[in-house]
Amino acid sequence: MTAGHAIFIAVLVIALAFFSYNAQRLVRYMLSVGQPDDRSGGVAVRIRNLLAIGLGQTKILRDPLPGMMHALIFWGFVVLTVGTAEILISGVVPGFSYAMFLPGPLYALYTLSQELFALLVLAAVAMLLYRRIVVKPRRLQGDRVHSGDAIFILAMIGALMVTLISLGAAEFALHPGAGSIFKPASFALSQAFGALSPASLEAIRDVSWWGHALLVLVFLNYLPYSKHLHVITSLPNTYLSNTSGPGVKGAMSYMDLEAEGVEVFGAADVTQLQWKNLLDSYSCTECGRCTAACPANLTGKPLSPRKIMINTRQRLMELAPLATGDFGEFEHPHLDMGEGADARRQGVDADTVTSALGNRLLDNYITEDELWACTSCRACVVECPVSIDQLDIINELRRNLVLMESRFPPEIQPAFESMERNGSPWAFDPGDRAKWADGMDIPTMAEMVERGERPEVLFWVGCMGSFDDRAKKIAVAFARVLQAAKIKFAILGQEEKCNGDPARRMGNEYLYQMLARDNIETLDRYGVETIVTNCPHCFHQIGNEYPQLGGNYEVIHHSTFIEKLLEDGRLPLNGEGRALTVAYHDSCYLGRYNDVYDAPRETLKRSLPVVTLVEPPRNRSRGLCCGAGGGRMWMEEKEGKRINVERTEELLATGADVLAVACPFCMTMIRDGVAAKDSDVPVYDIAEVVAGQLTAPSASPRTP
Ligand code: SF4
Ligand code: SF4
Repeated sequence: MTAGHAIFIAVLVIALAFFSYNAQRLVRYMLSVGQPDDRSGGVAVRIRNLLAIGLGQTKILRDPLPGMMHALIFWGFVVLTVGTAEILISGVVPGFSYAMFLPGPLYALYTLSQELFALLVLAAVAMLLYRRIVVKPRRLQGDRVHSGDAIFILAMIGALMVTLISLGAAEFALHPGAGSIFKPASFALSQAFGALSPASLEAIRDVSWWGHALLVLVFLNYLPYSKHLHVITSLPNTYLSNTSGPGVKGAMSYMDLEAEGVEVFGAADVTQLQWKNLLDSYSCTECGRCTAACPANLTGKPLSPRKIMINTRQRLMELAPLATGDFGEFEHPHLDMGEGADARRQGVDADTVTSALGNRLLDNYITEDELWACTSCRACVVECPVSIDQLDIINELRRNLVLMESRFPPEIQPAFESMERNGSPWAFDPGDRAKWADGMDIPTMAEMVERGERPEVLFWVGCMGSFDDRAKKIAVAFARVLQAAKIKFAILGQEEKCNGDPARRMGNEYLYQMLARDNIETLDRYGVETIVTNCPHCFHQIGNEYPQLGGNYEVIHHSTFIEKLLEDGRLPLNGEGRALTVAYHDSCYLGRYNDVYDAPRETLKRSLPVVTLVEPPRNRSRGLCCGAGGGRMWMEEKEGKRINVERTEELLATGADVLAVACPFCMTMIRDGVAAKDSDVPVYDIAEVVAGQLTAPSASPRTP
């Protein structure tokens, strides 16, 4: 063994030891500061996510050009790590090479893969540097992102590729021979070395080798201190993410309000978040894809989901050294510091301690205004390439604001009170809940049971359909469709209450559980199995979140239900009407929460005689929220442009004759938007479109 090998082994051991120390420190921070969370289930979905989103990079490729550059760097890392291992091992075991045990053709393919990916990664790095330094896209600015850090890392990756290729080129120049076809980059560069002496070539080879090996070790140890920690955490984060199977996507976490010993509900600090939320914060690449898609942010509100993640990480890094005992023993208001604080006092100054213990995530890092600006649209979650759930943190902080501190915008107080007293967010008489159906011969469940009958489905009308004048017409239209298809259905009438979703999204879990449990009791009493509803919020809440409280039903959105009726030929259509161009607006709770994108479009295509569907630039999983979700329906929009106006402008710009929706909340927001733009383009729910095409006498207005 040479002196060089001995020195390298010493450097390698120190570098790996330092990295291990930092890795265990970060894991310790996450697990001892964060609350427990069982992520052991859903293995099949997790593996699928890991393969598709993690290895396949499907989410990052949603933004094609920069996505491809990043994906190339990721795939390059995977392939080149094999070569890096060979280089590092050769520093420990003199003369080591995979050629020692790989058959010749396989080794040739391996060298080819290394060379090609080194070139691809180099090209991707050059383009990303150009983009960051020259183009400066908007989404890479703001939120005090670490741009210098990104440039430094990109430069380091570029240097790694250059040293890899120069190492290969020097080797090739020293030992020219066959196989240049498998080493195209090394071969090309070696031609430039043609006139150099063997001693110079050996010097280039040694400098390249040391340069590459040391860069790898510096890179590895820089990661824990940089936003590029995601290089290590993004795959585990994707595997452990909120899985996307039915019933779990977008569902808020269960909260046991009667759990013994629990004194804090929701989260005011990182100590009350779950450890997975903290892993999310480690994994944020600061790419800004979430913020660029956020309807609140792009209309000038103070919310940026990227900032939520950056600030969560910063707060964790401020508190965790104290909380876990790295800086000795301190009292903390939210955390049992007992066993973790093992008096490893490291001379941290008093100001740092005072400030860290006096701060908290809520208020000091994330303000109330940011939290209440969220529409719960999930655009941020869907866009995040490393499967972070920013909305989870927003929801937990909202819960704490409401349940622990009774802090919420004053204008939602009447909605809370009305939900509690009247079972709906508006102060209508619960006795009028079924008035929309007067004269339609629609039985309630109680009436049907009294007759000894059972319906095929229960039509869950929802508060909008029951009380809002415009939405009542949608309820009527859908009931006409059901009657035309001869579906035996019933409604709950006065026994139906708000599903509780607005209360839950606005942080009032007590109220939510009260309403949900009442509804579950009613549904179970009637033995309801299948529910159909025209409201995506009812659809999501009853179908995906009631199971947390023991309510298990098959819930079908009316778009899917009507599509099936049309497919089965159960609706008599008149086939009349002029050719129409229709722009459909995707509801967040139907689309991003439940992946229902095609059914409303198919319903329009199948029911209208001649229709051209046109799409606004933001559509399907990228559709822009109407601005009503997350309880925003009941809050004033004081800052920036109105979200519904922004969305309506996009829809009107398609030039469509008709705007179509499949959600009563979207109906209100888009109609208001149309009015604000002084436009006379009509807005219809898909049920109204279908009802307008029925041959049977219909009380619904004809679509144009
Ligand atoms: S859920 Fe929607 S509104 Fe809320 S932070 Fe995410 S993108 Fe913004
Ligand atoms: S949360 Fe996700 S999408 Fe948003 S900046 Fe971080 S990595 Fe990018």
